[in-house]
Amino acid sequence: MRTISLLGSTGSIGRQSLDVIAASGMSVAALTANRSVDLLEQQARQFHPKLVVCYDPAAAAELKLRLADTNVRVASGMEGLLEAATLPEADTVLTAVVGMVGLRPTLAALREKKRIALANKETLVCAGELVMRTAKEYGAEIIPVDSEHSALFQCLQGSHDHGELKRLILTCSGGPFFGKSREELAHYTRADALKHPTWKMGAKITIDCATLMNKGLEFIEAMRLYQVAPEQITIAIHRQSIVHSLVEFRDNAILAQLGVPDMRLPIQYALTYPARTEGVAKELDLFDCPPLSFQKPDMETFQCLKLALGAARKPGVACAVLNGANEAAVGLFLQDKIKFLEIGELVARALETVPNGPADTLEQVLEADAAAREAVYALI
Ligand code: MG
Repeated sequence: MRTISLLGSTGSIGRQSLDVIAASGMSVAALTANRSVDLLEQQARQFHPKLVVCYDPAAAAELKLRLADTNVRVASGMEGLLEAATLPEADTVLTAVVGMVGLRPTLAALREKKRIALANKETLVCAGELVMRTAKEYGAEIIPVDSEHSALFQCLQGSHDHGELKRLILTCSGGPFFGKSREELAHYTRADALKHPTWKMGAKITIDCATLMNKGLEFIEAMRLYQVAPEQITIAIHRQSIVHSLVEFRDNAILAQLGVPDMRLPIQYALTYPARTEGVAKELDLFDCPPLSFQKPDMETFQCLKLALGAARKPGVACAVLNGANEAAVGLFLQDKIKFLEIGELVARALETVPNGPADTLEQVLEADAAAREAVYALI
């Protein structure tokens, strides 16, 4: 039975992780959030962690008062996140924070040989080589939580020779703007972009799904996790979100993982792996499924996907620049400060202006990330 430090417990993945944890009787060592004091207090009272972290210091002070009648310790800031990631009581760190803020805690947890249940894709996108190298060096496991990567991971079980793997096929719902032209995209608002057809998620990832940047980030994430070349990954638009991804082997056999679109399934597998336990997500009724279809993505309309696949082919910090610029641009779009198509345009400009250097150290990655954000803010 695992003991879990859950980083990002009040977001969509965090809340669904606590569903899985409650249903399977696992324990919680630490919970962290940015500033959702009400929910964090409620979660702390239900799960009795040793440590609760609010990244925001003012929110942490408020939470400390509220939890004064309990034994729960309250911390804040990056220091708090690092402590949550390295608590001796936890054997597993589920990283469900959004964005680059997850990188340092992930590296710290790997050095303590924790299992990482990885739901923070930005970590592998920005510092994939550094993270994978650290995991290898310390003998720590990284088990993906992202539904596509979990599907690939499940399909790869039992395949021991890397040479057997020919191709990864990443499925993509196509997002709310599937089939639209660039002219149509120009008019879409924040509210339109926040309507995802099949998955319920946080705001940042939902916008990434509308621009298809999410699939671009997942493409890079898959390259790092499974150590494959960009030519070995195909993206297939699959509107029904039933097939979560596929692996093609050398003999042309293709394995797929299917299930209802419910993140609790990949979360559960990342926590129980290599075992499988009673499902928290509903079962898939094959006789009540829509017909399954697969199409090629429209790379010209969805500029962000094209940019991500371009950055994936470059060594160094290009992917960190892509991600940092995207985080900044999506933040601006969510504040109604830029239009939908400007997200891609700003990311493209940042990739042109920020020089591409090596990504061997945490500092180099953080520097590139900061430069990319600055480039975006300077452009508007
Ligand atoms: Mg995904």
